Amino acid sequence: MTECTDQVVGDILSSWRYDISGISPEMSKDYKSHLEECDHCRRRQRLHRTIDVALIGVSTLSIIAFVMALMVIHHVEPLRNWALVMHLEHRSVDLTLQAAAILGLLVSLVSWVLIAVTTPAPVYLTGMALAQARVLQGRIPEELRGRLPRNVA
Ligand SMILES: [Zn+2]
Repeated sequence: MTECTDQVVGDILSSWRYDISGISPEMSKDYKSHLEECDHCRRRQRLHRTIDVALIGVSTLSIIAFVMALMVIHHVEPLRNWALVMHLEHRSVDLTLQAAAILGLLVSLVSWVLIAVTTPAPVYLTGMALAQARVLQGRIPEELRGRLPRNVA
């Protein structure tokens, strides 16, 4: 295990979950240079951003899963047969599953928004996407590059 080179700065960064994207550029200069020189904090920062991205990834997948569940409940016939096997009124089974899926979808949407608001995951992902776009743009032949919008470069 590595130790933080400046415990005071390290503690501040830790309380912010190593997110300096929200503070002003002149304030963030010292923290940026600390992150460059301190292995401990840099690793912690990477870990926290990985957790943020994983959280938003899981909640996105769960939104997709519940949307698919709702589509299945609406369209798949075997579900009705299953309801008959269970000796239930299929309307009520339909509605119960639908209500559960809608509730799940709402919970997933709320957690997605909470994660997006409370973590720097969107900023981090946007930064990664822009970096990736720049790399891709570098691979585009010169004659096509002139036609692209300037804002990515
Ligand atoms: Zn440190």
